[in-house]
Amino acid sequence: MDLPALDLAALDAIDVHVHVEQDAHGCLSLDQELIDASAKYFHADQDRTPTVEAIAAHYRERNMAAVVFTVDAPAGTGHPALSSEEIADAAAAHPDVLIPFGSVDPHAGKAAVARARRLVTDHGVRGFKFHPSLQAFEPNDMRFYPLYEALQELRVPALFHTGQTGIGAGLPGGRGIKLRYSNPMLLDDVAADFPHLTIVLAHPSVPWQDEAISIATHKANVYTDLSGWSPKYFPPQLVRAANSLLKRKVLFGSDFPVITPDRWLADFAKLEIKDEVRPLILKDNAARMLGLS
Ligand SMILES: [Zn+2]
Repeated sequence: MDLPALDLAALDAIDVHVHVEQDAHGCLSLDQELIDASAKYFHADQDRTPTVEAIAAHYRERNMAAVVFTVDAPAGTGHPALSSEEIADAAAAHPDVLIPFGSVDPHAGKAAVARARRLVTDHGVRGFKFHPSLQAFEPNDMRFYPLYEALQELRVPALFHTGQTGIGAGLPGGRGIKLRYSNPMLLDDVAADFPHLTIVLAHPSVPWQDEAISIATHKANVYTDLSGWSPKYFPPQLVRAANSLLKRKVLFGSDFPVITPDRWLADFAKLEIKDEVRPLILKDNAARMLGLS
């Protein structure tokens, strides 16, 4: 059976930040306490745990593509991860709208490197998602450099959560999750040491927004996505940078399912972004970052 391929020209937008939260066996990405706390933090009343199929239908209805992934963090969370292999294989049935990223636990060492290679070569993964706070690792620790070396060689981007997280929010000790690991400045080292590795700093990096803007301005290989916050809460310096210095570096991302693309786009429409910059943020920059154009 021939599946319809991704038709870049026909798409209205590419959402670079979408979480698969449930697999085909009904397993969830996180334990229920963390899922519930994050839904409360984001005031999310929509389905908090969509499957690959549900995400494909949601985006196809809207004429948008979505970069989909889970976070593989058993060492950090103690919770079994969803299988990135299964997610990629399920996404392969929806190549018109889904772009699968993989996730490996950096603490798995050499096994993580080998698995990352297999995810790309055998499962068609187009990039990788990391969440330093949830995965409990310092991204600039040289122990993890062989992993970045492999991603650089495979020519696939690495998207890192940066800044505050809704996971663990409002719980005692934030459930042990440390925000420090998600300081984007740690990724400046990685971007410097791997100049041919494309890095995406995910989210307006609260409380390190200025750092994120500096890094994305200074390093040709660094992008930033706008996911996880409604555009109405974007700090003014981010809006200014998106309109000028960073207009080719800023990417539309919602962080679905905690924020829906509909809500994000409605608020983005009201943001003071130049008309000629809107299509860059919504689609063109992502197409370049992903190597689609
Ligand atoms: Zn994320």
